[in-house]
Amino acid sequence: MKVLKKIDDIRQCRLQNRAGKWGLVPTMGYLHAGHLSLVRKARAENDYVAVSIFLNPKQFEDVQDLRTYPKDLRRDLELLEHEEVDLVWTPAPAEIYPPDYQTYVSVQELAKPLEGAARPGHFRGVATIVAKLFNVFEPQRAYFGQKDAQQLLLIQQMVKDLNFNLQVVACPTVREQDGLAMSSRNARLPAPARKQAICLYEALRLAERMISSGERKAATLRSALSAHIEDYNLARIDYVSIVNPATVDEIERIAGRVLICLAVSVDGVRLIDNLTINIREAQNENV
Ligand code: AMP
Repeated sequence: MKVLKKIDDIRQCRLQNRAGKWGLVPTMGYLHAGHLSLVRKARAENDYVAVSIFLNPKQFEDVQDLRTYPKDLRRDLELLEHEEVDLVWTPAPAEIYPPDYQTYVSVQELAKPLEGAARPGHFRGVATIVAKLFNVFEPQRAYFGQKDAQQLLLIQQMVKDLNFNLQVVACPTVREQDGLAMSSRNARLPAPARKQAICLYEALRLAERMISSGERKAATLRSALSAHIEDYNLARIDYVSIVNPATVDEIERIAGRVLICLAVSVDGVRLIDNLTINIREAQNENV
């Protein structure tokens, strides 16, 4: 496994191995089984697998969140070595954003609601770094988690709009035993908060039960889910949204496929989760 820092070295490595297909898994490090599921899928589908580990400052509007984001590069590299990854990129911020840096990628409508409203500038940072990663690695496939459903949509849109010549592969959410979606931020949850963090998954399951029992009013669902989460004293709701899974626009009536998105701070740790429900089959797709 090669671990490289410089863009020129990545390009050279890529050129030396241009015959096979490359799969890229972009991450911010502090890897868990969710990340590794993407890596394994990439390993199964490509000749070469590249992983980037870069805590992208441009997608953190909250400096404290960036400062306290968990890191353990040595452990990350051990895990990736074990997954037989070919190439890891661990660039310094100045390699990505030199002092004269001034170009950004902004996806428009998809970036406005939910995470975009809660974290202004976040998706501009995400789209910019992912576009740069695509340009540096030129992968045939790139792997992203459904856990960040809006991010996935935004990247699919960017790939289409900017004619990136690659396939975006969506990967299902990997969960802890009790249902909590795996996230690097979970490491920041103190024990009582970790217990209460289950409220997101419970709310998604509640929505699923209500919909299969015939509930079709999004407002009723939003209230029920919010009430369930508010029962936990450490939980503060940022949003409980029921949206069109293609546009991320809020909907009034449940029909066809719907995406339920939650953002909740539990003891100050902001967690997100989501579930796609297909009404015709009355069954979820990614829990
Ligand atoms: P991050 O390091 O949080 O930027 O995540 C890197 C990639 O891993 C993104 O595409 C995420 O959507 C994906 N990811 C994060 N958590 C999970 C999870 N629990 N299950 C599946 N994919 C995940």
